[in-house]
Amino acid sequence: MGANTKEYPAKIPFPVTCHKCKEPFVHKFHMDKTSFDWTCPKCGFTHPSYLGLDITIGVLLLLKSRYELTEEKDFSMAVVFAAMAFEGELSRLFVKWKEIECIGAGTQLDREACEDQLRDFRTINGKDRGGFSIPSWLEHRRFRVIQNAIT
Ligand SMILES: [Zn+2]
Repeated sequence: MGANTKEYPAKIPFPVTCHKCKEPFVHKFHMDKTSFDWTCPKCGFTHPSYLGLDITIGVLLLLKSRYELTEEKDFSMAVVFAAMAFEGELSRLFVKWKEIECIGAGTQLDREACEDQLRDFRTINGKDRGGFSIPSWLEHRRFRVIQNAIT
């Protein structure tokens, strides 16, 4: 994150539940955090919390998208965050599979070359040509409309 982090905070609303009194709560934290403390508004118990490894940036951005859609009623931002989530997950998986490919070949991943490859993919179809296979569930007609809208 750059110098504008405080100026444009992208807080992620994350659903949590108090372990002491079972009160559900939505804690907001900056998306570059992987851990945070939160205090239950009902009983005052402070919880140290860590995100699981399955909580990727795409999952966080999708939570933000859902929050914009259901709470803020900002439909444009919901679409923007959903597109960012989709793009972030595709990029994360692309790098992951390239890294696995390198492990299989006994070579080192060149992250800069990988990022250059990602920048060259202007469309989802471009990512497909780059060796990233789009799962069959993405071929669903409704999802294809979303794909076309964000590319
Ligand atoms: Zn509590």
